[in-house]
Amino acid sequence: MDSQPETTARRHQRIIMFPVPFQGHINPMFQLANLLYSKGFSITILHTNFNAPKTSNYPHFTFKSILDNGHENERFSQSSLADFAQNFLFKQDAAEAFRDELELLLASVQDEQVSCLITDALWHFTQSVADSLNLPRLVLRTGSLYSTIVYSSIPLLDDRGYFKLDDSHLEEQVSEFPLLKVKDVKKIGIKSSKDPLAQLLGDMMKQIKASSGIIWNSFKELEETELERVPDDFPIPRFLITFPKYFTASSSSLLEQDQTIFPWLDQQPTKSVVYISFGSLSQVEEKEFLEIAHGLVYSKQTFLWVVRPEFVKGSTWVELLPDGFPGERGRVVEWAPQQEVLAHEATGAFWTHSGWNSTLESVCEGVPMICSSVLADQALNARYMSDVSRVAVYLENGLQREEIASAIRRIMVDEEGKEIRERARVLKQIADVSAMKGGSSNKSMESLIDYISSL
Ligand code: UDP
Repeated sequence: MDSQPETTARRHQRIIMFPVPFQGHINPMFQLANLLYSKGFSITILHTNFNAPKTSNYPHFTFKSILDNGHENERFSQSSLADFAQNFLFKQDAAEAFRDELELLLASVQDEQVSCLITDALWHFTQSVADSLNLPRLVLRTGSLYSTIVYSSIPLLDDRGYFKLDDSHLEEQVSEFPLLKVKDVKKIGIKSSKDPLAQLLGDMMKQIKASSGIIWNSFKELEETELERVPDDFPIPRFLITFPKYFTASSSSLLEQDQTIFPWLDQQPTKSVVYISFGSLSQVEEKEFLEIAHGLVYSKQTFLWVVRPEFVKGSTWVELLPDGFPGERGRVVEWAPQQEVLAHEATGAFWTHSGWNSTLESVCEGVPMICSSVLADQALNARYMSDVSRVAVYLENGLQREEIASAIRRIMVDEEGKEIRERARVLKQIADVSAMKGGSSNKSMESLIDYISSL
């Protein structure tokens, strides 16, 4: 714990933070904001109207709505998501608008020193703005260290032709990243380094390198093997902090989390429930949705399944499910308090789409995973969890009912599952130690505080 005078002194140091308005980006930024506030910094959050945060959950922060795009109170809609990306992430004049807002904000702050700006790494255009205002900018990279390194090699992977290989090569190894198969890099969703997504990631990488430091939501022991590769790629101060160990992601949930599941979970035997969620953005086809439902039934395990509105392309919610589903054995909800569900003793496995927050939350609670992947870094996370950390079964060939049931049973019933569960338990202990005084995550947090204080 900080001594009181130190904490009070820092209250005169303000940090301006700017999350990208998607759930998987908002959660870690708010966890980091809570962490920095607990260490004595004052916090201002910049946000768009699209997916605006629930400010009432954070009376201790100051909020400022910027880059108004007219999407007031609009949440998670796929069309507005595309619109958002078009408007902000791919557009240059966002930088000018951002500069105007930031300049006004800096002028309005009195009796305080603004120590730095911390933005999501995707807000790459904020670097030149911060430079022009002499404000140090740190970036929060909400994915893993490993995926950041793979992303920084997209031009190389493109040069070597990986994105253009046809389906006969999917099972081949990527020699530059021996952990990965061709299908893993193809799932990133890039066809060439000229794609808008590749350019966005390229801009992100360039501006990370120009920043004053990078923060990952991770911990040293989890990505030890990757750390050696980092210094050349990112010659800036680097911090790895396990956010879910300090603050829950649930307080920044954009959707109402169904709390009625807890009395039901309380009645289930220890480690008997498979929790399923594909995160805040991933969508499946109708056919895949039905394969999931049948796979769950075939597995004969108890389950809690998050089916987000708009999860199934072309459907509103669960109208496609057969009559009588989920029956006695399951519950279907629209949105769950995920971190708390993972921490519940009835939860025995997590079938995840392998978003990085979900992955790390599962690691932090010692819950073994069944990993699927849809896009972006998900296949990289899934591969890492199954082949390096070995706390997951990777469902790498899509969604077929027999394979789903078999993957669930491998974790929940088979001998192999016991070993995976044991490794997940040990990894949780390592994460616990890392977050304690003297542990790697804790030390990294302390050095981040010292670093920001010195800026
Ligand atoms: N989440 C939640 N309730 C749910 C499903 C997910 O609160 O029912 C949270 C989860 O705890 C995580 C975030 O949403 O913090 C999802 O982030 P992730 O990086 O896993 O995936 P994304 O949504 O970005 O694909």
